[in-house]
Amino acid sequence: MRTFIDHARSFREDVTRRGEDFSGLAAGQSPLALFISCSDSRVIPSLFTGARPGELFELRTAGNIVPPYRLDRPAGEVATIEFAVEMLGVADIVVCGHSHCGAVGALLGAADLRAAPALRGWLAEVADGTPGIGRPAQAAEDGASPAAPPRGDHAAAAQRHVLAQLDRLRRYPSIRRRVADGRITLHAWYYEVHTGSVLMHRPSTDAFLPL
Ligand SMILES: [Zn+2]
Repeated sequence: MRTFIDHARSFREDVTRRGEDFSGLAAGQSPLALFISCSDSRVIPSLFTGARPGELFELRTAGNIVPPYRLDRPAGEVATIEFAVEMLGVADIVVCGHSHCGAVGALLGAADLRAAPALRGWLAEVADGTPGIGRPAQAAEDGASPAAPPRGDHAAAAQRHVLAQLDRLRRYPSIRRRVADGRITLHAWYYEVHTGSVLMHRPSTDAFLPL
């Protein structure tokens, strides 16, 4: 924590020394995109996109999960997405999954989530509709030791998981309308934490390929 405090303490001075001017940011924000990614500490969207302050509106959730749109149970994720779309008018939405994702591992049954019942419930609720993705920690519930899935399986599952979140976004009323008339474009990305590579889903081949 010490290094974070030291860095934050000198940040304003460093900004000035670099000749950067943040004063225009006080006038408001007009981000170019809503970027939905995992809370994983190895995934830093501004690092690999080069986004500057004011350019990316971020939503980070465990497993870059987009919950179903519903009004009977307020959810911060739904509210954040709606704000970006309705109030900020973002033109692009990126859902970015990643390699070695613990949430995807849990959905594959490779993690024991008995100590994290809220996380297990969250994953179970949103795990529907993704081929090959199950409900989390069934093995642990059954008393068996969870085993890590093979690496290729994990990558494929994480990529299918991203596409499932995009499908869910398309069911948000405001997004459905904007996708239909071309005001919003949806993008499925996949980031490799161990290489820095970013892949993008190409609908023409239904494959994730380098950007
Ligand atoms: Zn993750």
